[in-house]
Amino acid sequence: MIIVPKLPSKPKLRTIGVLTSGGDAPGMNAAIRAVVRWADAHHVRTFGIRRGYTGILDRQVELLTSRSVANVIQRAGTFLKTSRCQAFLDSEHRARAAQILRQWDIEGLVVIGGDGSLTGAQRLAEESGIAVIGVPGTIDNDMGGTETTLGFDTAVNTALDAIDKIRDTADSHDRCFVVEVMGRSSGALATSVGLAGGAETILVPERETGIEEVIGNIDTSITRGRTNSIIVVAEGYQGGSGHDLTEQLNARGYHARACILGHIQRGGMPTAFDRNLGSVMGSAAAAHLTAGRSRQMVAMREGHIELVPIEEAVSGERLPLLNMLDLARTLAT
Ligand code: ADP
Repeated sequence: MIIVPKLPSKPKLRTIGVLTSGGDAPGMNAAIRAVVRWADAHHVRTFGIRRGYTGILDRQVELLTSRSVANVIQRAGTFLKTSRCQAFLDSEHRARAAQILRQWDIEGLVVIGGDGSLTGAQRLAEESGIAVIGVPGTIDNDMGGTETTLGFDTAVNTALDAIDKIRDTADSHDRCFVVEVMGRSSGALATSVGLAGGAETILVPERETGIEEVIGNIDTSITRGRTNSIIVVAEGYQGGSGHDLTEQLNARGYHARACILGHIQRGGMPTAFDRNLGSVMGSAAAAHLTAGRSRQMVAMREGHIELVPIEEAVSGERLPLLNMLDLARTLAT
């Protein structure tokens, strides 16, 4: 369960903006919907900004009402669309963005995105005084200060569905499958999917694991009577890509096949958890922003929805993974 706090309900700000930026994640639509409807219920106007920071600079701004966000909660991606905006790295363009926001009377912004997007939001707030509240939206679950991010649960379930299907083939052919999942700098997705899918080996950026250890795991499985093996590898594993690993295993006489899940992990209908998380985080972001808070991110800590400084979210310590990895190994043998 997500523990919903009592939210501030006496807004000081009268006009806010909302945008999604960086990689899209299931649940972003639920969060936008919640921002707009919370604001509407408290007589605050919300402008939706299309395509992230690019949309501020290009003035792709439109007034959203409760009706504008009907029928979006179940949709993946983000109906406001997202982008990567090189210009926003430059303080002159951020100053221009602040000026444009003021022309629309936008006093505060809810930014839904990953650590890059929230770093941009922090800079905008520091330099211009525009208030910002972040919502962690990334399937990678690679941010500090929060136990989970929007989209992670859906991505885990999508990858798990694929692994369950791959296991059927691996079992029928007595094969070893190397399944590469997303996560350039974090093994959170690989670890959760690996534990849930009973993977024999999970390879992540956070832990060095050599090919000999991988082979040792496969051999142990064979000795114990297993005829197939699933290895989950995060994109950011230092030992190479899913294809590299498969080649190495084949060179050593194992019948390995690679399956790179790629972008299917970003899509799909958000799970109930991600819709609820988006609804609660979006509402909390709108409530705190309009109450006058800034430079904070909505976070989940021990099930509670709280605020943490954006600095902590973008550079603080992430979730510890190593115990979960060890547990997955124990349970898979
Ligand atoms: P994510 O938010 O998913 O981590 P990115 O790292 O690509 O995705 O960041 C998304 C956008 O956020 C960038 O295209 C840029 O517009 C903005 N951004 C990222 N890093 C910074 C930064 N250091 N300063 C200002 N803006 C940034």
